[in-house]
Amino acid sequence: MKLVFGAVAASFFVAVAILLLSWTTYFAQLDSTAYDFTLRLAGPISPTSPTLIVAIDESSLDRIGAWPWSRDKLARLIERVETGNPRAIAVDVLLDEKKSEEEDNALAQSIANAPAIVLATRIASVNGVDRWRRPNVRFVQNHVRLGHVHADPDFDGISRRIFSAKISEAQAVRAFAREALRAAGLPEKGVFEENIGSADIIRPQTVNIRFVGDNASFRHVPAWKVLEGAVEPAAFKDQIVLIGSTAEGIDLDQWFTPFSANGQKMSGVEIHANAIETLYTGRAIAEISDMLVLVGLWTLVVLFWWVDRRFEGRRFYATAVLTGPVLVALSWLVMKYYSVWVPFPPFLAAIVLVLPGLEVGKLVRMNRDLDGKIGRLTVAALYERRASGGHRRPLQLETRQRILSELPDCSEREGWLTALDAYERESSGRDNNREHLFGTRRHNSRWKLDAVDFFNEELMRFLSFNNAILASIEDVIIVSNAAGHVVYQNPASKRLEGYCEDPPFAPDYFTSLLDRRPFVPLFARVLSQMEPVTSEFVPGRNGRNFYNVTLSPIARAGVVLSMHDATAQHELNQAKSDMVSLVSHELRTPLTSIRGYSDMLLKYNLVQEKGKEFLATIIDESSRLNQLIQSFLDIAYIESGRQKMTKSEFEIGPVFKDMVSILGPAAAEKEIAIEMPADMETTRVLADRLLLYQALTNLVTNAIKYSPPRTTIRIGVANGSGRVRFQIADQGCGIPADEAAKIFEKFYRRANKETREQTGFGLGLAFVKEVATRHGGDVLVESTMGEGSVFTLWIPN
Ligand code: ADP
Repeated sequence: MKLVFGAVAASFFVAVAILLLSWTTYFAQLDSTAYDFTLRLAGPISPTSPTLIVAIDESSLDRIGAWPWSRDKLARLIERVETGNPRAIAVDVLLDEKKSEEEDNALAQSIANAPAIVLATRIASVNGVDRWRRPNVRFVQNHVRLGHVHADPDFDGISRRIFSAKISEAQAVRAFAREALRAAGLPEKGVFEENIGSADIIRPQTVNIRFVGDNASFRHVPAWKVLEGAVEPAAFKDQIVLIGSTAEGIDLDQWFTPFSANGQKMSGVEIHANAIETLYTGRAIAEISDMLVLVGLWTLVVLFWWVDRRFEGRRFYATAVLTGPVLVALSWLVMKYYSVWVPFPPFLAAIVLVLPGLEVGKLVRMNRDLDGKIGRLTVAALYERRASGGHRRPLQLETRQRILSELPDCSEREGWLTALDAYERESSGRDNNREHLFGTRRHNSRWKLDAVDFFNEELMRFLSFNNAILASIEDVIIVSNAAGHVVYQNPASKRLEGYCEDPPFAPDYFTSLLDRRPFVPLFARVLSQMEPVTSEFVPGRNGRNFYNVTLSPIARAGVVLSMHDATAQHELNQAKSDMVSLVSHELRTPLTSIRGYSDMLLKYNLVQEKGKEFLATIIDESSRLNQLIQSFLDIAYIESGRQKMTKSEFEIGPVFKDMVSILGPAAAEKEIAIEMPADMETTRVLADRLLLYQALTNLVTNAIKYSPPRTTIRIGVANGSGRVRFQIADQGCGIPADEAAKIFEKFYRRANKETREQTGFGLGLAFVKEVATRHGGDVLVESTMGEGSVFTLWIPN
């Protein structure tokens, strides 16, 4: 809004400036030329007023004799015309001199016989004083009208207008053409004077003549034909007959007009005829006011500004340049059909000035904008300069020292040092560049270009570095935009079976690269929920490779597919799973037979006394082995993923109660008390009930195993900050801090006395850890040697 306001105000000033310019002399000249051009373009028209010229032309001079003619000839001319009963006779000859009595009498007589007659008068300067050159008093009879015959040419000698009246010696005289119309009793279209009471107030105004064409546009007859009776008097009937000279050289009453294209002047009498026509038809050419011109200019400048903003470039120039002919055409149409002069030169000047003006304005704005942008980038660059000056160098030095001290003299060490050298050379070159560029205060246009080059290089470096990073990643990375068009694939993807350089639709492409599972729903989910989705061990197109596939969103702009080759991991899992089958079937089955047959041998007394002892050992050992296999399978089942977790919500109280009732006898044997909080009943958890029960049982079993007799085991449950914590605190031997993490490893048993006294395989805590992590939680231990341990198992609530 502010911008529009500014533009409208600026346009106003430009419009005013152009208007002022159009008032200068040079411009006036241009304006007049444009006026003539437009009038000529509007074309000649055929006259409609009853005007006839009796022309004192070259042929009349040849026949009758050289000018001036004796007044009796003029008298005869008037008489002849009068016989035809014209509406009026207007004599465009100055009759101010006194001639012979006889001649003047004859003329006075003929004037007296013409009821409607107009004689010419004009102002002339006599000894520096303006005076009317009136006709001889004998001719200025009562019925005679006087009209001024000033052609009033412009400064360029071209007659374009007449004054409606002229005033001198305190006497106002109407224009010759106006008096001719009045004498003929025809109305003039136009208001030139006010009537107040009995007095006419005459205010001279200019009347722009609508010339009907060049010379000889009006009907005319040579004077000699009239004098010799070669013209029928009827020809003058009801006409305004203008008598005047058209021959060149007679009292220099010849003027250029807008139609004088071929350098021929027009006689005064023809100009009067044109003036009569103009007033008769009411086609005096009106000029639009300066105010209107100003508004027009203003509108045009605002329009240019708008077009420039909207259609910058070629379309703007085309519009601006086309405005010129459009304006001329408009001016022509208005002149032709409405007789109104719309001066187009100021508008053309507006085009000529505003066009480059807007361009310059734009350049200035762009330059300023560029300065601002470079300024901002410079701040960033200066910041980096400070950063690089402050930290990098010492860091590099440190790196060098560590390379030298930690690596033996080998080719790898040399390789690293060479890379470091190259890096230092490059970064110090850049620092120098930056120093050179931003160390100076003078920021001329050369500097600006250098700065742009510098930023460009930095950007390219950054991009190529990023590209190199992506290229060096072993995982497959494929980027798709929101339209499903693949926009980037890293080099690793080229090694994929089914790689396509420009696939038509990304989700289909992903489908074809993997096990043909549909990707469209997943793609939509990732894009709309903006959360990554991972699937593990997705078989590749060939069925041999397996991938961990992640679809991640790039805001709402696209999706990145990353494929990590997890074939090895998959094989390992497979092996684990195979091993679980092996252990559970191939080991357990024979063990069950051994146990079964041993039991039978003992039961049916099939061996001697000595053998019974061996059999008891076999049964003991096989049940130990069975226990070991059971513990091992417990973990292996979950690890291999065979044991699916089935979570449910339940109260923890009953779980502990069950457990204590099972473990009670073992605790009682050692006189160990188990304390449980009273409010445990109400605590609810979301977990796999069986797994959690087993894990907690392992913890409590350990507490009984590794505590001395007559001690207490405290069970606690706490619920808060999104977690449920189970605590088993004993007063046992304790665990040293450096072993606190190790006891959760598979098959790890401490080498202390208490442990040696107890049977076990070091798998109980590993199982607890596995259960905790499977639930998204963890297990940890805090212990003081000789005082006891607190095991905390937590899972999210
Ligand atoms: P084990 O079958 O040996 O009990 P676990 O994995 O359950 O295997 O425990 C690993 C080791 O951690 C034990 O051998 C023992 O040394 C130590 N340990 C476990 N629980 C306790 C405890 N409550 N107090 C002291 N030591 C313990």
